[in-house]
Amino acid sequence: MGGEVMSDINYNVNIDDKLYLNSYIVDTESHLKIIDQSVCEKCEDKPCLIICPAKVYEEKDNHTHISYEGCLECGACRIACVKGNIDWRYPKGGFGIQFRLA
Ligand code: SF4
Ligand code: SF4
Repeated sequence: MGGEVMSDINYNVNIDDKLYLNSYIVDTESHLKIIDQSVCEKCEDKPCLIICPAKVYEEKDNHTHISYEGCLECGACRIACVKGNIDWRYPKGGFGIQFRLA
């Protein structure tokens, strides 16, 4: 009994390749909101800018800007913002990311 084990698993796929497979149904209204921008102004480390795998958070003109359209709904920012300054919700039914595993 011998033989070669065949596999179609591609171990070289990276996270950007995976994200590229996803698609979104985007609502016109953001499901993520900053509760108080003045709290962000005093937030020194701004972990939301670092932790989000989809780079949803950006600092622009001394404000924390949210590009909610690319949110992966992972919830990491909700935990990372120790000041509890993100009003975090899932998108309304039917909207948001459509995951495709490949
Ligand atoms: S971690 Fe929270 S308080 Fe700090 S910049 Fe991000 S949203 Fe604002
Ligand atoms: S839920 Fe995840 S993907 Fe969405 S904004 Fe927060 S960290 Fe980024």
